[in-house]
Amino acid sequence: MYLDVWGARGSHPASGMAFSRFGHHTACLSVRSGDHLLVLDAGTGASALARALEAAPPREVDILLSHFHHDHVIGLPYLLMSLPPDTALRIHAALEGHEALAERISAILSPPYFPPGIAGVLGRTECHQHPAGASFQAGPMQVETHPLEHPGGSTAFRVRCGDRSLVYATDLEQPDVLAAEWIAFACGADLLVHDTMFTEAEWSARRGWGHATIEGALRLADAAGVPRLVGFHHNPAHDDEMMLLRELDLVLRRPGSSLAREGESLSI
Ligand SMILES: [Zn+2]
Ligand SMILES: [Zn+2]
Repeated sequence: MYLDVWGARGSHPASGMAFSRFGHHTACLSVRSGDHLLVLDAGTGASALARALEAAPPREVDILLSHFHHDHVIGLPYLLMSLPPDTALRIHAALEGHEALAERISAILSPPYFPPGIAGVLGRTECHQHPAGASFQAGPMQVETHPLEHPGGSTAFRVRCGDRSLVYATDLEQPDVLAAEWIAFACGADLLVHDTMFTEAEWSARRGWGHATIEGALRLADAAGVPRLVGFHHNPAHDDEMMLLRELDLVLRRPGSSLAREGESLSI
């Protein structure tokens, strides 16, 4: 099982050479298994994924959206447009209230947010709206969900493929006390991809913004017995120099862990 990183930045892209080592694009990860592709969020990194798929497009694609903030969906039109007509497309998200997922996806793909002409791709896209806490099958992979505390809500995903599993938890206000259900959700995973956007000082000044720190992510990894942490949703104000220092701090406390780098492929 390989997890490919197409974008690891949070909030908005970070341009310039000072950000090149960890990358510029916003949230997008993928797991390929034969002819099936599972995509975790579709930020600007999804446009890079779209280009990479041109040579050998998958036959089935399941796109899991944690939530609908711009940095997680702005690349969705480019990804959908790039896939051939015979590719089976499914979009999954947990939505509160009465709004239909199909309507929300349609809005993203339509004027005034996007030029006309691609809304037709919706005709061949299945939209699956799941209650918070639901489990479902996505091609060969089993997916579990867990609601996260974030302005407007967000969803964590646990993806199982064979005997390996990863937890993707981004855009969450780290709790002062870890709930037993949250620990159980991550328990025994091989890899934890977790929001580490803020330093402790930044987090203290921005409580309620719905993000986390390396310390908060390590608390969950420790409690859930997850051996490897990959920090994610990098602060677009943190340049490579600062990111390398933060990563060194992480590695000293949890050898084998890292901060996600755009373009890398993580073996799980
Ligand atoms: Zn975000
Ligand atoms: Zn968000």
